[in-house]
Amino acid sequence: MLSNSIHYSEPLFRPPSEARALILQTTIGCSWNRCAFCEMYTSKKFHIRKEEDVFKEIDSLSSYSTQIRKVFLADGNAMVLSYDKLMRIIEKLNSSFPNINRISAYALPKDLSSKTHDELVSLANAGLKLLYTGIETGDDELLKIISKGETYNSTVDALVKARQSGLKLSVMILNGLGGKRFTTQHAQNSAKAVNAIGPEYLSTLVLSFPYGVDHYKNKFAGDFMEMSKMELISEMGEFIGNLELNNTIFRSDHASNYLVLKGILNRDKDKLLTDIFRVLKNQDPSELRLEWMRGL
Ligand code: SF4
Repeated sequence: MLSNSIHYSEPLFRPPSEARALILQTTIGCSWNRCAFCEMYTSKKFHIRKEEDVFKEIDSLSSYSTQIRKVFLADGNAMVLSYDKLMRIIEKLNSSFPNINRISAYALPKDLSSKTHDELVSLANAGLKLLYTGIETGDDELLKIISKGETYNSTVDALVKARQSGLKLSVMILNGLGGKRFTTQHAQNSAKAVNAIGPEYLSTLVLSFPYGVDHYKNKFAGDFMEMSKMELISEMGEFIGNLELNNTIFRSDHASNYLVLKGILNRDKDKLLTDIFRVLKNQDPSELRLEWMRGL
């Protein structure tokens, strides 16, 4: 949207659900930029854009002012900005676009823990409605191996704090992240983390290897054994089987997923597990972890 009016620093990423939003780069790259599986911003040196340049860009869109309803603050983690800076940008957006009804951004847990509860409440009240966080896994061993820079506790504490401040959350888990060796602990501890957070939205993506599996293995500080499609789907069964949620919208429909799964959790949990079971039932059981199938 409006891409001709803004000069973007490429590559540019946004969540699929922000397809109709104005994408506004307030930062360039990711302030962490060390996760073993992620190549999104490796070509960019992280920096915070000058506020005057961001404001000029907003002013350049004045002829679209009434059409802009959603704004996504890019790049990798705009929530790294200080509270004061974020608030000035949100106030500028509110005064420039009278019909705006949602501002969103990617956030790392550490970006949230560095802000007070009252600051997060003020940002939510000013119009910051939705944060996207790649939890990736709730397993401490795996978080360390992939250099996520977070732990189970740091992730859960920060995201619970955000929810208690009135911010909505969309969280992502990475299917296959730890390979065969870590699959059970990854699935179980990821479900435990998501249960503790209780996000409004949950999605899963499948680990991909844009530079080849050996490139990932070199960055993975452990023994990585790539999983088959059926093992990946079985891991989804273990993950979903351990979820205990109340009204979370779940989507596993990114292009990377081999099996499209959608529903409200826990309402649709049995149906999702049955869908997975149907795919797996004719497979060699020795290849699969079937604990989650008990009770189906
Ligand atoms: S924090 Fe997010 S954007 Fe940054 S390197 Fe990790 S996965 Fe990539």
